[in-house]
Amino acid sequence: MTAPATDIDVLILGAGVNGAGLFRDLCEQGLTCVISDKGDFGGGTSAAPSRLIHGGIKYLETGELRLVAQSTLERNLLLKNAPHLVRPLPTVIPIFSWFKGVTAALRTLLGSTTAPRSRGAVLMKTGMALYDFYGRRHRVMPRHQMWLRARALREIPPLTPRIVAAGQYYDATIALPERLVWELLSEGLRASPRSLALNHSALDGTDGATVTIAGRSFRPRIVINAAGPWIDHVNAALGAPSQLIGGTKGSHILLDHPDLLAALKGRMIYFEADDGRICLVFDYLGRALVGSTDTRADNPDDVRIEDDEIDYFLSAMRSLLPGLTFDRSQIVYAYSGIRPLPASDAANPGLISRDHSAPVADPDGARDWPIISLVGGKWTTFRGFAEEVADTVLARLGTKRRVDTRLAPIGGGRDYPADAMAWSRAQAGRSGSVVERAAHLLARYGTTAEPILRAEGGSPRMLSDADYSEQELDWVTRNEQVVTLADLVMRRTALAVTGNLSRRDLDRIADVVAHALAWDEPRRNSEVRDTQAMLLTRHRLRLS
Ligand SMILES: Cc1cc2nc3c(=O)[nH]c(=O)nc-3n(C[C@H](O)[C@H](O)[C@H](O)COP(=O)(O)OP(=O)(O)OC[C@H]3O[C@@H](n4cnc5c(N)ncnc54)[C@H](O)[C@@H]3O)c2cc1C
Repeated sequence: MTAPATDIDVLILGAGVNGAGLFRDLCEQGLTCVISDKGDFGGGTSAAPSRLIHGGIKYLETGELRLVAQSTLERNLLLKNAPHLVRPLPTVIPIFSWFKGVTAALRTLLGSTTAPRSRGAVLMKTGMALYDFYGRRHRVMPRHQMWLRARALREIPPLTPRIVAAGQYYDATIALPERLVWELLSEGLRASPRSLALNHSALDGTDGATVTIAGRSFRPRIVINAAGPWIDHVNAALGAPSQLIGGTKGSHILLDHPDLLAALKGRMIYFEADDGRICLVFDYLGRALVGSTDTRADNPDDVRIEDDEIDYFLSAMRSLLPGLTFDRSQIVYAYSGIRPLPASDAANPGLISRDHSAPVADPDGARDWPIISLVGGKWTTFRGFAEEVADTVLARLGTKRRVDTRLAPIGGGRDYPADAMAWSRAQAGRSGSVVERAAHLLARYGTTAEPILRAEGGSPRMLSDADYSEQELDWVTRNEQVVTLADLVMRRTALAVTGNLSRRDLDRIADVVAHALAWDEPRRNSEVRDTQAMLLTRHRLRLS
């Protein structure tokens, strides 16, 4: 006999950053919500960004000023609310001419989607000044500077001498976006204990009143479709076909390149490749992260980097930094994702709006509830997007907002210490750990490091090749809804993305997870095989 359906306020399908952000907000307002993902939390596009929390300086030229204003504010708020994961990123823009691009920028501002790109010093100076202006609310970072050629080449010696100047401004980067998605969900679960977050739980179907997910039935008052690039698939499965998404694929590579990291000195270079596309390179957890491409694509279930994208990156890097060498052997990891952009016929995918919208399909004869689809948006703006949609949901349910999320800390950002060293000394004393380890785990997990340090108890059993302990991985597995081995190595930790995972460590990690989750030997071995295959085919990481 099947169990009766559970009545809930809101069902959210898709637990990327947009679904998770909305789940946190609605749970904080006292609603009972269920969020489900067919894969792991944050495993879709939200695991594949450039890892920037940015105001979107390039959106100035498409005239998306509302988006720049919102993004710079959200960036500044995240620096306060999640300081363990979001950090300032000084950013250098090499400039190749004095006046180019002014006419093209005006044409784009007036609506052209074909204007050729090239941005000279005058345009960049204006852009950076505007960017500072928009980023003034809750500002925590310095304003921009312009450097003449000699200064720029002194700061970054391998840079191409073709530049005439460079600009430096501040944006931010997120160390582990996948962890922040989990932390948003756990904030929601804390605020609303009757709510549920289900990973690896696919949508089975609906009869128009109840929705069945992995064998469990729910009767929601409102359904949110937060399936990113899968939005049209999910609407079709809900009986409300749509054509909302026109995705583009973007890829990244990570390089093992100490000379490049030494030249970058913690800065990002945000540059125009020879074809006018904007690319970036920065020091991401000890690897050089290079991205991204932007090509039409629509199958989010089979997205991976292609050889021509790698050639494109290597040639862009050689042209930008002729003082350094680049080749395929330096690549330690690669990833790709589909941007869930609104359907558009723009000739240049880079000019499709990155703003978000939330179209509503009202209930009809066959369906009892409205479906609100979360279309587009950026990682950076998830909170503002969630707030807008949560207000719509609250209005439809006839209730009022009671918690403002603007200054709400997230996960390990809660009670984050003003003095990291004092905190580390105190925690080391309490747990029996050493101060360096406490500081390291504070930087990795924020204040969530406290129970992990207690679990290590002063004698962490470290992996052979990566800087993680068995107790730490055991704690994360038991407390952060790890279901598969890949969830742990790819999304709760940085083990895979930094290319620091060895075959012998994967075996030790599999033993830890098998013990924590009571897997038998065949399950453990198949998890190792699946994880290895996925890392090789989708991420070019060959474990040795
Ligand atoms: C190359 C690239 C670079 C980017 N760089 C940046 C950046 O630096 N900064 C920035 O701010 N933004 C960036 N973005 C944009 C940002 O990553 C996305 O806007 C954001 O992650 C979208 O999140 P989402 O929750 O809407 O979608 P997703 O993260 O894709 O979440 C959708 C979820 O729905 C799930 N799902 C699918 N079908 C079902 C189903 N039937 N049932 C249940 N669940 C289902 C999927 O498994 C997935 O987890 C970038 C995007 C790309 C592709």
